[in-house]
Amino acid sequence: MSDQRTVLVLNSGSSSVKFQLVQPDTGTSVAHGIVERIGDDNASAALVLGGRDWGRETPIADHEAALRTVFELFDEAGARLDEQGLMAVGHRVVHGGQDLYRPTVVDDALLATITELSPLAPLHNPPAVLGITTAQKVLPDVPHVAVFDTAFFHDLPPAAATYAISRDVAREWKIRRYGFHGTSHQYVSERAAEFLNVPLQSLNQIVLHLGNGASASAIVGGRPVDTSMGLTPMEGLVMGTRSGDIDPGVVMYLWRTAQMSVEDIETMLNRSSGVQGLGGATDFRELHRQIDAGSEDAGLAYDVYIHRLRKYIGAYLALLGTVDVLTFTAGVGENDAAVRRDALSGLAPLGIELDEHLNDSPARGPRIISADRSPTTVLVIPTNEELAIARACVDALT
Ligand code: AMP
Repeated sequence: MSDQRTVLVLNSGSSSVKFQLVQPDTGTSVAHGIVERIGDDNASAALVLGGRDWGRETPIADHEAALRTVFELFDEAGARLDEQGLMAVGHRVVHGGQDLYRPTVVDDALLATITELSPLAPLHNPPAVLGITTAQKVLPDVPHVAVFDTAFFHDLPPAAATYAISRDVAREWKIRRYGFHGTSHQYVSERAAEFLNVPLQSLNQIVLHLGNGASASAIVGGRPVDTSMGLTPMEGLVMGTRSGDIDPGVVMYLWRTAQMSVEDIETMLNRSSGVQGLGGATDFRELHRQIDAGSEDAGLAYDVYIHRLRKYIGAYLALLGTVDVLTFTAGVGENDAAVRRDALSGLAPLGIELDEHLNDSPARGPRIISADRSPTTVLVIPTNEELAIARACVDALT
């Protein structure tokens, strides 16, 4: 039995559940894993604990069976979940709409509100609700806390949050820039200040969260002043499978002229666009392999990705005037030195200059990668949304 309290953080998708058991006080990740292809005959569950892996491939009928399989894996690993000092389950919820932004202990009213918000996030909120209700069923004795991906951006300045469409339509349908990946942008911007040992309040920051999903934010004194994702997580940067910014006219054209259904257009923009749609690979390691092998499609996908990223960096430079810190995070941002180099090349006149050697270093933790003379300090900070969610749970319960 551990004497440290823990939080089980769950990120529930329609056919997958990612989990991590975190000690909020020490920041230690005790265990993590994923259940994939729920509902399929070839589902799989994996747990990493104490540097060892446990897993199985077996039919997993539904989310409840998925969680029970996870508990069995904990048992097999000799670390029963009920002996881990579990104080809460933290649920990542993508869309909190206008009203849900504080980490909140789940009750029926909260679940009803998250469900009502489903039209704003049809791919994300329904599985989150399913994940919460299932987890409540199998872990009834601990509080469940919802933590919203939109929360950090709740107070975006109106000029950044407002779309220039009919005011009445926007009001009626609650259309605004909500922003996503907020837990990551907040965590990383706070970590950057801590790492540099300077007050958060004194910093103008740009955070580039470049994972499978990707978003940028401009942050003044710890508060975001703009972010690239919008009403939904489809706007902004080019992503693994999502288009990011496009002319809304493309949607009408596909609907009216190509006679695609709204669902087909949505699926195309979410799942078969971005670098996948252009270059045939979502994973940047594969994209680089294809570029090295001479693929022109992969080369164009990479160029479009970098072009968009540079446009956002330029836009946020103009918004902020001076940028003290620019931070790369998430899978691509933390690992892909070429993306970081190409995103920032030629920006020395604007105060951003990488140190090629530091940028190419395979180091893993938080680190500086800019040249000493660079007025903007460029960092790589590994994101840790699970720890941020675990700590948000503690705040919600105290
Ligand atoms: P995330 O959504 O933060 O988990 O990021 C996942 C993405 O990170 C993958 O799809 C890859 O494109 C990218 N990624 C992970 N590891 C590497 C690596 N070593 N080099 C380049 N890209 C990576």
